[in-house]
Amino acid sequence: MKIAIYPGSFDPVTNGHRNIIRRAASIFDRLIVCVMVNAGKSKPMFSQQERVEMIRKVTAEIPNVEVDCSDELLADYARRKGGCVIVKGLRAGSDFENEFQMALINHKINPNLDTMFLTSEHQYMYLSSSTVKELGWYDVDLGDFLPAEIIPDFQKRIQSLKLGGTSHA
Ligand code: ADP
Repeated sequence: MKIAIYPGSFDPVTNGHRNIIRRAASIFDRLIVCVMVNAGKSKPMFSQQERVEMIRKVTAEIPNVEVDCSDELLADYARRKGGCVIVKGLRAGSDFENEFQMALINHKINPNLDTMFLTSEHQYMYLSSSTVKELGWYDVDLGDFLPAEIIPDFQKRIQSLKLGGTSHA
């Protein structure tokens, strides 16, 4: 059985992420989408468990997708799960350097681990969770960016952050 792992922050999961999930799920027998802790990113908008629930909502119709979360090193997580392929999405330019470096490091730490890149579809090329958070703060229509199932959750969180006087920066 071919197992792949799609790791990321997914804060929140976007239409770009979902596109990668659908495509990867059609290539592998089983795809594990894993919400990882990213020490380099600022405080997340959603807890790890909330992000897991949102991804479950938007992938409910894809039977071979499983959603998990972990604070382990990705190479260790993959070893534990028996996954031999990491799936990553590549957007215009910006992702390449960083993803290339991470793929080499993960392979060095766990030589059984390979990384497969799926290029972003053109309509999602410039879409990121941080852009969505920025736009959401200004009440922009998010229909093209976020899966419809999670827009209410997202708007609710933005409203509560605004009421709490939290800045979006
Ligand atoms: P971000 O916070 O930048 O949106 P994540 O850490 O959640 O990113 O991303 C997880 C993975 O999904 C990474 O491999 C990233 O390159 C990929 N990804 C994110 N957004 C898109 C998109 N719009 N199209 C394709 N791949 C994407």
